[in-house]
Amino acid sequence: MSKIDPVFEWPESQRGIVLSEPSELNEGLMQDLPLTIPTLLEHAATNHPETEVLARLLDGSIFRYNYAEFANRARQAANALTRLGVGYGDVVGTLAWNHHWHMECFYAIPGLGAVCHTVNPRLFAEQIVYIINHARDKILLVDQDFVELVESIVSEIPGVEQFVILGERGCIPEPGKLGEVLYYEELIAAEPPTIDWPQFDERTASGLCYTSGTTGNPKGVLYSHRSTVLHSMAIAQPDNLSLSAHDCVMPVAPLYHAQSWGLPYGACMVGAKFILPGRHLDGPHLLQLIRDEGVTTGCGVPTIWTMVLEHAEKEDLDLGRLQRLLIGGTALPTSMRDRFRAKGVSAVQIWGMTETSPMGTISRTNRKAAELAQDAQDKQLLKQGRLPYGVEMKIVLADGSRAPHDGTTAGDIWVKGPWIANGYLHGEGGEMLDAEGFFPTGDVGHIDACGFMKITDRSKDVIKSGGEWISSIDVEDIVTRHPAVSMAAVIAVYHKKWDERPLLLVTLKEGASLDKADMLSYLQDKIVKWWMPDDVLVIAEMPMTATGKIRKLTLREQYWNHLAKD
Ligand code: ADP
Repeated sequence: MSKIDPVFEWPESQRGIVLSEPSELNEGLMQDLPLTIPTLLEHAATNHPETEVLARLLDGSIFRYNYAEFANRARQAANALTRLGVGYGDVVGTLAWNHHWHMECFYAIPGLGAVCHTVNPRLFAEQIVYIINHARDKILLVDQDFVELVESIVSEIPGVEQFVILGERGCIPEPGKLGEVLYYEELIAAEPPTIDWPQFDERTASGLCYTSGTTGNPKGVLYSHRSTVLHSMAIAQPDNLSLSAHDCVMPVAPLYHAQSWGLPYGACMVGAKFILPGRHLDGPHLLQLIRDEGVTTGCGVPTIWTMVLEHAEKEDLDLGRLQRLLIGGTALPTSMRDRFRAKGVSAVQIWGMTETSPMGTISRTNRKAAELAQDAQDKQLLKQGRLPYGVEMKIVLADGSRAPHDGTTAGDIWVKGPWIANGYLHGEGGEMLDAEGFFPTGDVGHIDACGFMKITDRSKDVIKSGGEWISSIDVEDIVTRHPAVSMAAVIAVYHKKWDERPLLLVTLKEGASLDKADMLSYLQDKIVKWWMPDDVLVIAEMPMTATGKIRKLTLREQYWNHLAKD
């Protein structure tokens, strides 16, 4: 076959056809190095060896080391795991907070071609049993805090051959029920800090994270080395989280929740200082790290940041060098955006899910949005955001057609890209992609002419009143701006005439009071009449999911017939 002329135009009939006789020029003359997780570790160790990594330990004290020492210990851990028989394709579970032990596992396990399965300790015990068995975890690395939990389920997870406690021998009383346990510190101390990382394809599985399973059993999302490295590159970009070597990053989203939104890998890629806040996720502890360590950026769900804000406001403290926070998991409340802004911090909304690694969209301006007047721009940035390179999105209407990008026509959101799942572990849920290769997110929303997507609801939370949709997210946002309200949930309840009507449930701030009439008059000029909740209930506590979101399913089950009683 002759060489290809660089301006050669493929004939229509050959477009998309794989050539059967590759020539030298088909291949490209670039080195073919796989995008694997150990390359991130080795990059940080070589190029940012003295940059600090910190963890708050279980007793509240701070453990401090740097990327060179971190990499040494991760390699020691990989050697120790190899000695325990872990190899390509094995699954190693972790049940742990955000600390240096866990972070080392994030590199040691996938570095061997094995899968790091981050088990969410906040799930119900029966769900934890289910996912450990479903994932076929061979070894379980357990935080000292979760030993009791594991002891309570040990008879139901017979596939786990070995339990390793994250700490030193003697850090907890010997756990009698787990057989001969090993201790991480003792294990790695016996190993050299060097390793020849095994070579494997970048498409090899690296991490496993189960969705919290608000309906049905949790499903396993299996990340690959390639998807992880590409996602890290993407989050680091200036229009996304804008991560750099000058940053100090504190992931508050748990390492077991969509891998802490990719920050453990993104931080090594850029050589940012890294802070692991441990189990102390209250306002005072987090704020202390932010101020003392010079945190510039962090990530987490709004509930966490509310605690930080409340503490800072109560004590009249500044937020140190904090510049921006990646906030997602649920919609960013306007009030939170404003409160952070008052302290000089920009709250950047991200939308995504475990299945999208998790970055799907991010709410930063593009040229068009930057030209808007301040008010309009503020409103724009409260949308879930625009697409980074690497994510394609379509909004599909009931008749299967695509919605126009008009900022109002809402439909089902589907996504496609190299860090988006193509299905679930062991085929659960069946074939997920449509004929065009898009994944169904289960969210409902629209896209505007500026390219910004806005979620109006999760498909299972949608309120359909007389055939029209009411956006629970919009109403909740307005309600949480009321000074007495701490949290708000608007849910669909049964109505004999309209099928469904919105019911508003709120929890109140300490010492505050509120009744239905107050709330309805507050909402009067803020939402259209038919969106007005049919009733307002003040409840003592919101049921929360294992990932820090309001468990609307529980509320719906409890209140479904609330209006039917009238
Ligand atoms: P789980 O389903 O276990 O709660 P995920 O993190 O995978 O865990 O949840 C993803 C869902 O969270 C999305 O499908 C969406 O409904 C919701 N979500 C995430 N980010 C946002 C956001 N910025 N605004 C509104 N909803 C969001």
